[in-house]
Amino acid sequence: MQIPTDLLPVDGRFGSGPAKVRPEALDYLAMRGDLMGTSHRQAPVRGLVRAVQESLAELYRIPEGYEVVLGNGGSTLFWDLAVSSLIERRSAHGVFGEFSRKFASAAGRAPHLEAPAVSEAPAGSVALPEAGDADVYAWAQNETSTGAAAPVRRIGDGLVLIDATSAAGGMDADIAETDVYYFAPQKNFSSDGGLWLAFASPAAIERAERIKASGRWIPETLDFTVAVKNSRLNQTLNTPALATLLLLEDQLGWMLELGGMEAVAARCAESTSTLYAWAESRDFASPFVADPAFRSPVVATIDLADEIDAKAVIAALRMNGIVDVDPYRALNRNQLRVGCYASVDPADVEALVGCLDYVIGALA
Ligand SMILES: *Cc1c(COP(=O)(O)O)cnc(C)c1O
Repeated sequence: MQIPTDLLPVDGRFGSGPAKVRPEALDYLAMRGDLMGTSHRQAPVRGLVRAVQESLAELYRIPEGYEVVLGNGGSTLFWDLAVSSLIERRSAHGVFGEFSRKFASAAGRAPHLEAPAVSEAPAGSVALPEAGDADVYAWAQNETSTGAAAPVRRIGDGLVLIDATSAAGGMDADIAETDVYYFAPQKNFSSDGGLWLAFASPAAIERAERIKASGRWIPETLDFTVAVKNSRLNQTLNTPALATLLLLEDQLGWMLELGGMEAVAARCAESTSTLYAWAESRDFASPFVADPAFRSPVVATIDLADEIDAKAVIAALRMNGIVDVDPYRALNRNQLRVGCYASVDPADVEALVGCLDYVIGALA
């Protein structure tokens, strides 16, 4: 099936992670090729790390005393790090999709912790942890597997740990309402994977220091105090991917030039609104997240009626260069999932819905 070329988006990458990298960022990477293959202990790379830390702090207007901490291993490693180095006795989790479930499971497997308290909601809805005796409260601001977004606000007396892997750089947040707001750069930040980054409160850093002082065995890569010490020197414990840092640096400059988080968040919301409005106006489609208040402004999930095979729609789009609109595999729904991260042009999302009408019409 050939979609008429005048309907096609300029860029057909709509993945929910990893996601579209701006061509200008790749040009920047080529231009800074002199940095590749040089030491991360020397001034040029440490300057790059410092620039990334400063731009992130500016983008989210982080409160006085908070620090930008980073290390290798992505958000998945950060869950293990939190289990080793930030949860003292017991955590409480809001679970409403696969990513929020993974952190709760990691805590549940730890022999040194009490069983976590889990508040669960079905896919497409949102659950926050309940205030109780936990010392860490954890949930995701954006559940990438379902396209549901949750509020970010303090709960209970413990540390608040927010998984912002797919929210950061696309949704705003008041960082003072969190103790660790962590993410990875392969989603809104349009970079490559492999790194975790976090805004950490003084209370989070103090917690990690106290747990370490208590004598708990903590592997070095999972020790938050080691990451903090290195980050203060604009380094990571071990060798980082320099291309990831360069792409991230370029994206942060682009976001700040665009007008900061408010402007970037408005751009993402414009894209997802196009999709939700389209789905609501077609009798063969509907937004998967029923409550508009929980609909993600960065990842739109759209259910298709049974008589339309989403797999066939996705295959036809792929033949025309529109890729990665597949639903999260474990969700197993007749669904489209569209990543509308910062780099995605809202005009390309307009074009996408035109292509969807064309393909669905042709398949019917
Ligand atoms: C993508 C994603 C992760 C996993 O990130 P990795 O860097 O691949 O470990 C975790 N949480 C959320 C919400 C995500 O979207």
